[in-house]
Amino acid sequence: MRSIEKLALVSKWTVVMYSETQNENGTYNTRCLYCFMTVATAVETKEELEHVEAQHVCPERALSELLAAKAATEPQTHRD
Ligand SMILES: [Zn+2]
Repeated sequence: MRSIEKLALVSKWTVVMYSETQNENGTYNTRCLYCFMTVATAVETKEELEHVEAQHVCPERALSELLAAKAATEPQTHRD
């Protein structure tokens, strides 16, 4: 089994990593390293793999984006 780790640029400021493994029959599995969810198994081509990764709506990433957006809109409290 071969493991390929790559960086997928999802947006200008968010990078999600996927752990890809190849099965003995040549198909691929991919797992999101952000939420540790298996995104797809037994995917036949690299093109399909990229497609399913692009389709993954990551709950962990959504949460961190929500918190980042919330922090950006809240007034900054200055403490001395
Ligand atoms: Zn995820």
